[in-house]
Amino acid sequence: MAKADVSEVASGVFCARGTDVNWILLRDGTDLTLIDAGYPGDTGAVEESIRDIGGRPEDVRAILVTHAHVDHIGAVNHFHSTYGTPVYLSDTETKHAHGEFHEGATELDVIKRLWRPGMLPWSLRILRGGASKKPVLGHAQPFPTSGALDLPGAPTPVATPGHTSGHTAYFLPAVGVVATGDALVTGHALTKINGPHLLPGFFNHDEAETRSALDVIATLDAGSLIPGHGAPHVGPIREAVEAAKAR
Ligand SMILES: [Zn+2]
Repeated sequence: MAKADVSEVASGVFCARGTDVNWILLRDGTDLTLIDAGYPGDTGAVEESIRDIGGRPEDVRAILVTHAHVDHIGAVNHFHSTYGTPVYLSDTETKHAHGEFHEGATELDVIKRLWRPGMLPWSLRILRGGASKKPVLGHAQPFPTSGALDLPGAPTPVATPGHTSGHTAYFLPAVGVVATGDALVTGHALTKINGPHLLPGFFNHDEAETRSALDVIATLDAGSLIPGHGAPHVGPIREAVEAAKAR
């Protein structure tokens, strides 16, 4: 897949935008935390994004995953097998990553909607990126502690179930940034919306919970968000949530 576009959203917080999905790097000295890991086809682009900010893939101390969908875990097994990088998710999402159940849009969900504007080119793009693969992360583990994690960037997991049952956002209190994953996005090939919004309903495991998760995100003291899909958004998080609810 194409090289990612990397920007520094806050001091030591980098958003890498792949073709259709983002991943995030948190830097503390030479140590890094990686949040999400693109499509399988983004593996080279994830490594390149690390080199772009002057780091080395072996300096990633851990990978945190918002949720175990293929577009967010593509490079995870490569990092784990090549560098021994540990991988953490919420308790529930760890089971999803282990392949104990699957939640999310099915191929049929996508096929039924291929007539929609943008759906066919998007489908072809993500298939090239490995969207039909179902990576199993047998080594993935639940967070080792509760509260802020002892990792570069000191991210605090925030339970935001709905898109998947164990979906987790990551709050960075020191810089007032929240990584919202797919609980709140700002752009997607299928929505054509530019600004905070929810993904189309067929992507979400539980639509009511997805909406409730917005209320949790709204309580965070953040002035910007980095979504799983779309550009980073600057502005009070409460207003971003209100904009998403109003659509
Ligand atoms: Zn996604």
